Amino acid sequence: MSMKHLHEYRDAEIAKKLINAIHSLKPRPMRFMEVCGTHTMSIFRHGIPALLPPWIELLSGPGCPVCVTALKDIDTFVSLSREKDVISATFGDLMRVPGSESSLGAQKAEGRDVRVVYSVFDALVTARENPDRAVVFNAVGFETTAPTIASALLTAEEEGISNFSIHSAHKMTPPALAALLDSPLVNIDGFLLPGHVSVITGTDGYRAVFDRYRVPSVIAGFEPVDILRAIYMLALQNLSGEPKLENAYERAVSPRGNPKAREIMTRIFAPADAMWRGIGTIPASGMVLKQEYDRFDACKRYGIRVEETPEPSGCACGDILMGIKKPVQCPMFGKGCTPVHPAGPCMVSGEGACAAYYRYMGDGESKKL
Ligand code: SF4
Repeated sequence: MSMKHLHEYRDAEIAKKLINAIHSLKPRPMRFMEVCGTHTMSIFRHGIPALLPPWIELLSGPGCPVCVTALKDIDTFVSLSREKDVISATFGDLMRVPGSESSLGAQKAEGRDVRVVYSVFDALVTARENPDRAVVFNAVGFETTAPTIASALLTAEEEGISNFSIHSAHKMTPPALAALLDSPLVNIDGFLLPGHVSVITGTDGYRAVFDRYRVPSVIAGFEPVDILRAIYMLALQNLSGEPKLENAYERAVSPRGNPKAREIMTRIFAPADAMWRGIGTIPASGMVLKQEYDRFDACKRYGIRVEETPEPSGCACGDILMGIKKPVQCPMFGKGCTPVHPAGPCMVSGEGACAAYYRYMGDGESKKL
């Protein structure tokens, strides 16, 4: 993307025109969910809620990978880090996410070898450099990261790296949208679909869900102008009564997405029912290693099987990830739960809705909340 184009996506004049266009529409209450955690952060960083008319409400969705990682998966990561000679490689955000009795950060403090990596390939390098130890990568994320994990496993296979394995808590986006729309508690007039995930899935990746539920849906980029444009398109769809699946991130997302990345992903992973933290099990929404890649499955390698434990009482992350509640409606927000002492995953991750509210809305007194 040229500097000229980058400038356009942050252009205050274009943003102002879009804001005016939104305000000039016929007022009608509308609730739009930004599915992706990166959108949540961008929306708050740029103060977008305060720029919208009062009849448009934005809700955060289940697109923060750390937030939706099930308690059981966090407990599994913790158990794996306790195995003899294991180096546990993890994304930084996961360190402080509380499991049922510990966290990866607490394990590190107790002397386990837990290392923060920025990519699965860093973990692979660690495996190469430590042939006498075993490296377990804690794999979380969506369609965006899964192809990279799959590619790392193929590299490990090619190079005969046998001291590397993963526990996959990977998830897919379209089944989560369907689960939200199936819930009688959820009330959404439109989705701002995630830009990064859509680079892989393409617009076509949402076609089946859109055709079934006919809810206005627009793929959006991450600059303020991208987000405002998508909101405007969602509002127009609502007012016209003609729901559409549209792409407002044409510079990065094509109708077919990235078939090569999907091919690598589906070579390694198979769909499976998956538990989403605070939401529950969503059919065929997870990505588990196919049987022929069992040798990379850390749980099978170490014989680990963790039972699901109930969520600690008080944390409303599930309702927040489904757009049923806003962070300020959680009694612990800013009291028992802050970014320094998080009680739930939505306050830990930089992409979590509670963390975004706390950071950019402070005490939650804003009228837009
Ligand atoms: S404020 Fe804390 S306890 Fe409440 S929902 Fe958010 S993360 Fe959970």
